[in-house]
Amino acid sequence: MVTPYKHEPFTDFSIEENRRALEKELQLAEANLGKEYPLIIGGERITTDDKITSFNPAKKDQVIGYVSKANRELAEKAMKVADETFQWWRKTKPEMRADILFRAAAIIRRRKHEFTAHLVLEGGKPWKEADADTAEAIDFLEYYGRQMIRLKDGVEINSREVENNRYHYIPLGVGVTISPWNFLFAIMCGTTVAPMVTGNTVLLKPASTTPIISYKLMEVLEEAGMPDGVVNFIPGSGSEVGDYLVDHPKTRFISFTGSREVGTRIFERASVVQPGQKWLKRTIIEMGGKDTIVVDEDADLDAAAEAITYSAYGFSGQKCSACSRVIAHEAVYDELLELVVEKTKKIKVDDPTNYYTYMGPVIDEASYNKILDYVDIGKQEGKLMVGGDGNNTTGWFVNPTVFADLDPKSRLMQEEIFGPVVGFSKASNFDEAIEYANDTEYGLTGAVFSNNRVHIEKAREDFHVGNLYFNRGCTAAIVGYHPFGGFNMSGTDSKAGGPDYLVHHMQGKTTSEML
Ligand code: NAP
Ligand code: MG
Repeated sequence: MVTPYKHEPFTDFSIEENRRALEKELQLAEANLGKEYPLIIGGERITTDDKITSFNPAKKDQVIGYVSKANRELAEKAMKVADETFQWWRKTKPEMRADILFRAAAIIRRRKHEFTAHLVLEGGKPWKEADADTAEAIDFLEYYGRQMIRLKDGVEINSREVENNRYHYIPLGVGVTISPWNFLFAIMCGTTVAPMVTGNTVLLKPASTTPIISYKLMEVLEEAGMPDGVVNFIPGSGSEVGDYLVDHPKTRFISFTGSREVGTRIFERASVVQPGQKWLKRTIIEMGGKDTIVVDEDADLDAAAEAITYSAYGFSGQKCSACSRVIAHEAVYDELLELVVEKTKKIKVDDPTNYYTYMGPVIDEASYNKILDYVDIGKQEGKLMVGGDGNNTTGWFVNPTVFADLDPKSRLMQEEIFGPVVGFSKASNFDEAIEYANDTEYGLTGAVFSNNRVHIEKAREDFHVGNLYFNRGCTAAIVGYHPFGGFNMSGTDSKAGGPDYLVHHMQGKTTSEML
């Protein structure tokens, strides 16, 4: 029997011992920079001449490491191995597969600060954010392991006197996991082990900006007893290897997390039936957000300002759940805006290796430029209250930025910026606020600050987002507590870390025997 699921606690870095532990791991990680990492196909380490270089976003010339890069031939080799491995892996005991996840969780927990230190450097995450990313990776392992045990005997259906009926889940086949850089550990881990624990084999293509953490996960899974060929590590260019695998007739399903642009491209390509393909591919696609916090006229404004600040600037606003829009009731708009501006001015943007840093860099030059382009748009569309600039001398640092008096239809209030930029619009009543909140093509997270029970109930029914929070911020979903995924152009709402998630990686089989 496994113990009931409980989420991994966050580390309290105000305790000196914890602080020392992470500092030590950061030093060790910095001493280990610049290594080379191979591909892993069927357990075999393969080194290529062509490499992906992973940089530290806070020190743009610092190389974290060099990762071998898969091309089409190597992707094909990985597909062959995954397909062969699936033929026996699909019949393994679910408990045995879950045990790999439990052991992997234990290994990561024992070396927690080592992983967190790596995320600080490779992802540019401040300590608290990096620690939460590691904790979430552990949570996915613990939660999905338990979910597999819950689902292993299928679901009860009806039988009759003359017949005995059963309904159980079987795996799908070879799955392609394509992961983003923002939760470089947690999302990459969750979207790799969910297909694996359900009996599929996996081709893992991580984001090219942050591939090394995936190699480290591979080592953990191997140490935990995962047989060769079950998960194959094939970093490479999204447009080359990604397209090839999405189109491949042997691909049975694709689990993608990333931008709306790439997500819709994968959805379209996956729908094409290729010569020799024997199924319609399944897609699990989680995309962007344009997430709103609504503040009602009777709300606790200090709490709202605090939540807006944290949700907008946590990990430099680079969360799909980040608050990038505030819709405030006109009665409290000015006061709330002033509180948020004051809090924003106090935020320290610095190298995330420092314990005190609240906000670090954005991920790379392309993001830096994109965010500052949006700042220019914001200057035309609204009123710049604070921030609006960056500094790229040592790394990709953008200052936290507030724009006021925006039209809810403005580009700043409609398009995903994926940086520390938050826009304010005014509503004349609560109904209008919800109408504005819903007026984007996305539907991922949202929050409402209100003490009016009727308004809270209205939002519960009408605010159309996958994750809706009351009187708290709109980020920081916890596995098993806040199943996560969005509506509309935010994705297929597969709800990662939720009770239905694993079923997306399986198919139900009905057997009926005449007695
Ligand atoms: P991205 O640019 O879409 O990349 C995501 C992954 O797709 C990367 O591994 C990328 O590889 C790969 N890719 C690129 N082109 C491809 C193609 N043609 N075929 C197959 N794969 C391809 O997204 P990102 O910049 O990494 O992540 C940020 C986005 O993710 C934001 O929009 C954010 O909202 C979203 N996100 C959503 C959720 C959610 O749960 N809904 C969670 C986290 C993030 P390369 O790196 O090699 O290009
Ligand atoms: Mg990208």
